[in-house]
Amino acid sequence: MPSQITNYQCPACTGPLHFVGSSGRLECEYCGSSYSVQEIEALYADKEEAAEQAGVQAQSAEAAQAAEEYSFQQGADGLKVYSCPSCGAELFCDETTAATSCPYCGNPTVVPSQFHGQRKPDFVLPFKLDKAAAVAALKNYYKGKKLLPRAFTDQNHIEEIRGVYVPFWLFDGRVSADIRYAATRVRSFTSGKYRITETDHFDVRRAGTLDFRRIPADGSKKMPDPMMDSLEPFDYGELKPFSTAYLPGFLADIYDVSADEAAERAVRRACSTSIAEMNATTGGYASCTPVSQRVEMPRFTAHYALLPVWMLATRWNDKTYLFAMNGQTGKLIGDLPVSMGRWWAWFFGIAGPLAAVLAAILFLM
Ligand SMILES: [Zn+2]
Ligand SMILES: [Zn+2]
Repeated sequence: MPSQITNYQCPACTGPLHFVGSSGRLECEYCGSSYSVQEIEALYADKEEAAEQAGVQAQSAEAAQAAEEYSFQQGADGLKVYSCPSCGAELFCDETTAATSCPYCGNPTVVPSQFHGQRKPDFVLPFKLDKAAAVAALKNYYKGKKLLPRAFTDQNHIEEIRGVYVPFWLFDGRVSADIRYAATRVRSFTSGKYRITETDHFDVRRAGTLDFRRIPADGSKKMPDPMMDSLEPFDYGELKPFSTAYLPGFLADIYDVSADEAAERAVRRACSTSIAEMNATTGGYASCTPVSQRVEMPRFTAHYALLPVWMLATRWNDKTYLFAMNGQTGKLIGDLPVSMGRWWAWFFGIAGPLAAVLAAILFLM
């Protein structure tokens, strides 16, 4: 199957366009023009339609050219090879890449055929925070961490932070729960010379349904699940109908975890939330232990969305450390090592003068 990549060119000067989160528009670095997503969509609608058809059916060379068609061949290790529409360099992408930028000319490119049919996202949550915000947040995160290896804080490395549209499944569904508890209430009182403790036993039952909307679970194998979960919450009020016009300037992947596979995690989350909600209503007893529970989400619907994440991976001592920032809210997560080399330098830096002071005191005594 042939495939192609597109870059969005400035209608005024043909320079490359980038989607800019702060303005929510596609901007040209060369002449400063900017365009709304709708304007670019309209401009490229014909081209994209042609591209789509060409991508699916490998149509005539004419249509292919109209669609800025660039052939690829399947490389080793599941890599796909595209040629950059701007400079002609060969781009190696893995099978899930849907948007990237050319390492030679820096121009943003999109692979529209990655979004055919079933693989077309329903929504995209556009980036709101730009690279400068991500770099500033990362520097602030590193600030004061004196023991951090230099591999992390090097300016050139920090500049490698990339905005990635991560594929997510958003689940809607209804949990029905029916939980029975054995509960007790205890009363003590004195009667004559006796101290009496009275225990009442209760059969407590809680049953009901809870509706969930947009429970997220990432659809990418290469993204660590706990990290993606920690980036929540996203404000889904700002979801837009999917368009590739939000992608130029960012990386984007298509899902490689199916909705059914991802649903397991989402259903488990919804069920444990429901159990916690039920448990929270059983106050007022001395003890309350669940004896039986039936909690299930028998049906759900899944929407496919691309969500914005700034990411930086740092290799250090044969381990990869990931830093990520929610591209909408700025929420940060990351794990950092401590460099023992710098730790010892720090230790002696403090311990050395301290030992000298102690020695001086002892000498004076
Ligand atoms: Zn321009
Ligand atoms: Zn290029």
